[in-house]
Amino acid sequence: MEHTNYIKYSDWHDLLQNSITKPEELAKSLPVDKSKIERIIKYYPMRINPYYFSLIKHSNCPVGKQAVPDILEIEDINILSDPDPLCEEIQSPVPNLIHRYPDRVLFMVSAECAMYCRFCMRKRKVGYNSITDKTIKAGIEYIKKNKSIREVVISGGDPLLLEDEKINNILQDLKAIDHIEILRIHSRVPCTLPQRITKDLVDMLRQYHPVFINIHFNHPDEITKEVALSCGALADAGIPLGCQTVLLNGVNNNPIIMKTLMKKLLMIRVKPYYIHQLDVVRGNLHFKTTIKEGLHIMQSLYGFSGLCVPQYMIDLPGGGGKVPLLPQYLKSFSDDTFTFVSYDDKLFKYQI
Ligand SMILES: *Cc1c(COP(=O)(O)O)cnc(C)c1O
Ligand code: SF4
Repeated sequence: MEHTNYIKYSDWHDLLQNSITKPEELAKSLPVDKSKIERIIKYYPMRINPYYFSLIKHSNCPVGKQAVPDILEIEDINILSDPDPLCEEIQSPVPNLIHRYPDRVLFMVSAECAMYCRFCMRKRKVGYNSITDKTIKAGIEYIKKNKSIREVVISGGDPLLLEDEKINNILQDLKAIDHIEILRIHSRVPCTLPQRITKDLVDMLRQYHPVFINIHFNHPDEITKEVALSCGALADAGIPLGCQTVLLNGVNNNPIIMKTLMKKLLMIRVKPYYIHQLDVVRGNLHFKTTIKEGLHIMQSLYGFSGLCVPQYMIDLPGGGGKVPLLPQYLKSFSDDTFTFVSYDDKLFKYQI
């Protein structure tokens, strides 16, 4: 199998245009059942760009599992019928803008991604033309009118799949609003299509500081030379980078893999921000892990540099928002004595 195909494309548009989207294209490079892929992508589109494809060893490897459609996506329809258990639509005062917390909104400006993750919690939306100039305009108007909002999380889909000019216009409009203090971009592009992080893009983004970018990495194999360059360029422009990792069965639900990922992220100047318990929606149940497993992984991260330790978050179904989950370090307490267990299992008394 040719794994360096992507080198022949000169820029990110070419890479994106040469993505695998059809069953027969996928079947040329991986041993998959074409008719099954056909059935799945009727519901949930496939896109694997040549760069991300170059990281896949086989359909079932940790990178392959994230990108190659699995028949279980359509087989779990009967088990779990809700495409939106987090009530994102109900909490959207205008289409594609979720206002769940008083001080910040999640603003979806693109329904496209450089690779459609099979476990995506917005499977109901991504890859469909649900976001238009009109919804973006309505979102900006909503933000303008609501003075309690101080931070806009620009998300999707993937906002960095828009053309530079369009991103520039959105940032400019948001920056012009007095009560908006922080712009935060949520993107998988520095990981799934690092070639998108061009000098022009970076030079444009840095005009809108404070700009933060949270990237989404799930496995150490995703951290390559190209990714190191893309993150380096963003960090050099003064953009603090965070990582939101999703805990995924068969991909990263293992303390050694997770520890390796966290350490590799720091080497490319990305600070682990959250590990998410998977938001189970229709079509991604097969990626679910238990909270017990997640707590065990968190426990294995404590004791290492605090830089490596993100928060483990669960998004409460019904739109309750995110809350952190912590392994138990407080063994017992009375009015004036607290007994703690340290990361290496020793007991300590703390008296006040
Ligand atoms: C996760 C999320 C945010 C951002 O939350 P942080 O904890 O600040 O990262 C904002 N709005 C919605 C709807 C979210 O799901
Ligand atoms: S990049 Fe994000 S929004 Fe796009 S498919 Fe993956 S998880 Fe979903």
